[in-house]
Amino acid sequence: MTAFNAERVREDFPILRQSVHGKPLVYLDNAASTQKPKSVVEALSRLYSHDYANIHRGLHALSERTTKLYEDAREKARAFVNAKDAREIVFVRGTTEAINLVASSFGRKFVKSGDEILITAMEHHSNLVPWQFVCEERGATLKVVPIDDRGELDLEAFEKLLSPKTRIVAVTHVSNTLGTINPVKEIVRLAHARGVPVLVDGAQATPHLPIDVQDLDCDFYALSGHKMYGPSGIGILYGKLDRLNALPPYQGGGEMIRVVTFEKSTYADVPARFEAGTPNIAGAIGLGASFDYLRQWKPGEVARYESELLGYATKQVSGIPGVRLIGTAREKGPVLSFVIKGVHAHDVGTILDQEGVAVRAGHLCTQPLMERFGVPALTRASFGLYNTREEVDLLVCGIRKVSEVFA
Ligand code: PMP
Repeated sequence: MTAFNAERVREDFPILRQSVHGKPLVYLDNAASTQKPKSVVEALSRLYSHDYANIHRGLHALSERTTKLYEDAREKARAFVNAKDAREIVFVRGTTEAINLVASSFGRKFVKSGDEILITAMEHHSNLVPWQFVCEERGATLKVVPIDDRGELDLEAFEKLLSPKTRIVAVTHVSNTLGTINPVKEIVRLAHARGVPVLVDGAQATPHLPIDVQDLDCDFYALSGHKMYGPSGIGILYGKLDRLNALPPYQGGGEMIRVVTFEKSTYADVPARFEAGTPNIAGAIGLGASFDYLRQWKPGEVARYESELLGYATKQVSGIPGVRLIGTAREKGPVLSFVIKGVHAHDVGTILDQEGVAVRAGHLCTQPLMERFGVPALTRASFGLYNTREEVDLLVCGIRKVSEVFA
């Protein structure tokens, strides 16, 4: 284990050493996607330069080598989320596909007319729209747990909304817009007390927090590689073995079958049952390298650093006249969303870009949250393990400039 040092970490990310519009790049769009350390880039380069072949079906040396690397990555994913068994790890395209897989397969088998699916008011569209599909197809109803003005979940309302009709709860671990860290363990406990399974959207949690799916006791957990310093187009769906075993396949094709005839096909065991076709082989192996990268520090050390950085940024930004923070939960991931009085979020983003500061602006794939807080759009600065206080100061400088331009 190495001691965490953001300055040293920055050396692992050559992309950060550049200027944008003549200013040093300050990359604060990490909740959208993170940059990749050299070790991830090298893992991809090594694979394509030395080992690459299709997996699982070849008898030749390259195929065997690549299959081993792919299955090693599955084991690294298992260890990262502390799953019991590597068969509980399904490689998917990302969080969106993981949720669509569960919604589609679980919905087809377990949701019927009159049932309810419970989500929260802070879900990303990818943990909302797939459940709307299920509700439309099965004649079920989507129920939404409200939040308070800080952006914290109303747990009492959650308990009341859990009914004998509830088939599944789907909740984000950390909100991409508000930063709120939800009490997932408690949510799972309350749902399980009524026999209801829980899916957790971990897209914004896995880059920051130590994850232990056995401790959370959730039934499904989804993550995206590109948000945690790994490649895009790859992620995992964790599912408890008995839960995955109970689900019908999501997509049909090669690798997911046992025996195929024109009359009927039978399906492979999990996880192969859910990995139809040639998967994102390099993506999985690159993701394995990003798990290795994040595991070089003691669990919680990155979270502690980022939380301090968020505290510093929150104090600075909230002191700027005309700025309103959106998302002030007591437990937060490193996300700072705000509006500036009289300025559209897109203008804020454009002016900050001219200062070399990359942020996101818009509805952040959470349109219902915009309505909840009565704003058309937000600007979001989101931090990663390579960001520093000096960069926060440049952000603050940029925001001050924006308020002066529009004053
Ligand atoms: N959930 C949350 C909370 C997210 O922030 C995102 C990505 N913005 C997603 C789901 C979807 O992830 P992906 O686009 O990688 O599938």
